[in-house]
Amino acid sequence: MASVTQLKTEDKSVIDGAALEALGGQLRGNLCAPGEDGFDAARTIWNAMIDRSPDMAVRCLGAADVMAAVSFANAHDLDIAVRGGGHNIAGSAVADGGLLIDLSLMRSVRVDPAARRAHVGPGATLGDVDKETQAFGLAVPTGINSTTGIAGLTLGGGFGWLTRAYGMTIDNLVSVDVVTAAGELVHASAGENPDLFWAIRGGGGNFGIVTSFEFALHPVGPQVFSGLIVHPFDKAPELLKGYRQVVKETPDELTIWVVMRKAPPLPFLPEEWHGREVLVFAACYAGAMADGEKAAAPLRALGEPIADVLGPHPFTGWQAAFDPLLTPGARNYWKSHDFADISDEAIGVITGAVGHLPGPECEIFIAQVGGAMARVAPDATAYPNRDAHFIMNVHTRWREPAEDAKCISWARDLFSRAAPYATGSAYVNFIPEDEPDRTEKVYGANYKRLAEVKKRWDPGNRFHRNQNIAPGK
Ligand SMILES: Cc1cc2nc3c(=O)[nH]c(=O)nc-3n(C[C@H](O)[C@H](O)[C@H](O)COP(=O)(O)OP(=O)(O)OC[C@H]3O[C@@H](n4cnc5c(N)ncnc54)[C@H](O)[C@@H]3O)c2cc1C
Repeated sequence: MASVTQLKTEDKSVIDGAALEALGGQLRGNLCAPGEDGFDAARTIWNAMIDRSPDMAVRCLGAADVMAAVSFANAHDLDIAVRGGGHNIAGSAVADGGLLIDLSLMRSVRVDPAARRAHVGPGATLGDVDKETQAFGLAVPTGINSTTGIAGLTLGGGFGWLTRAYGMTIDNLVSVDVVTAAGELVHASAGENPDLFWAIRGGGGNFGIVTSFEFALHPVGPQVFSGLIVHPFDKAPELLKGYRQVVKETPDELTIWVVMRKAPPLPFLPEEWHGREVLVFAACYAGAMADGEKAAAPLRALGEPIADVLGPHPFTGWQAAFDPLLTPGARNYWKSHDFADISDEAIGVITGAVGHLPGPECEIFIAQVGGAMARVAPDATAYPNRDAHFIMNVHTRWREPAEDAKCISWARDLFSRAAPYATGSAYVNFIPEDEPDRTEKVYGANYKRLAEVKKRWDPGNRFHRNQNIAPGK
């Protein structure tokens, strides 16, 4: 029940106690205002750069709560923000003022091992999904940080260690339940509301609030051939050129990412390397252990590593391997480019930037994608950038507000100097809040159709706290 008796919203309108009581009485979850239990948990997200305060939050426990919250927002003309796992770099999950619809308590995951399907709530994290599916030796391709929300990741596309073998997260999405802008629940799949199903596979939270995801699962693990090879950074240009050759031949089961940063105090690294720049190859093979060992041999032949800890690891553990470097609560700013190939010029720009990292937690990730992801037609789902073979993400990360300007300008500088060698496309889930004009470009030829679907399902743009697609004219 709501304990607030009257609520003055940021725009100074007043919602009376009776209306709030009525909403509170409808919910299985709860309605909370600033200062009340659960409010700060609902509004606090991964990126500490974002500190926003809605007028109130509904902490949902089921689709009925989501329907009630949307209908309430419609009746009182409240701005809506929707929070899943709260990991979006742009902070689009929370807004100042309005109604926050918090889904983070809806973490259920139900696996049907015989049908190889998982039904997943919109507050589940990737770790929740992995733990439940791995109990049956199954997995869905997701991302590389286990605390990320499955909802936002899926709606933007989703890629990680299994993508080259089994496609993006959206390529494994079978159906969804969606609460529309009218507050009604609909089902969408290839056969039912196919326009909506097409759009939510990459189009973000523009079209409604997903209350349940159904995924197809694949046999994976429980152990996978995976791990890190750590090199001194002074050999980075040669190593990246070698990497570029190696990945031309890698089977789809093998995925190799590059991480460049100051070495964290990893237990297997000699202490003298802690805090010094390193180039790390992170690899995972989605298949038999012996095949992984064989497939990784050309990577292992590159240079003279400081450490090589490739070997069998539990899949759930490998999925969380980067968690300690990506904990919530730091200040973060990202910049991202897609690359078709990593040119010598791009290598020069990137390695040059690593030479003056603005802080010990800043890093550059290069994700190898392609494989099964690239075999899906660009217009088969809303996610169009199927031909990018590498996605670079500049993770700028620091603690003190006094360092904002220095860190952000380092990332922007690297981004603009790398732009001539990139494809011009980008992954919508990596776009920070200061790039709203990039959305249309990101969707390319799919944008027009997305705007039409938006017009059908959300003509008033109720769901606009996202990389927004305006309803078509
Ligand atoms: C540390 C870290 C690592 C990452 N690694 C990867 C990776 O390996 N691969 C990858 O693909 N991505 C990765 N990402 C990016 C990630 O996919 C996005 O940040 C994604 O938006 C996170 O989803 P969320 O539910 O946690 O976020 P939120 O911030 O809660 O939501 C993101 C957006 O989706 C909307 N939304 C959330 N839930 C719903 C819903 N149920 N219905 C409708 N709209 C909704 C929100 O309103 C918001 O606009 C990573 C992010 C972080 C912070």
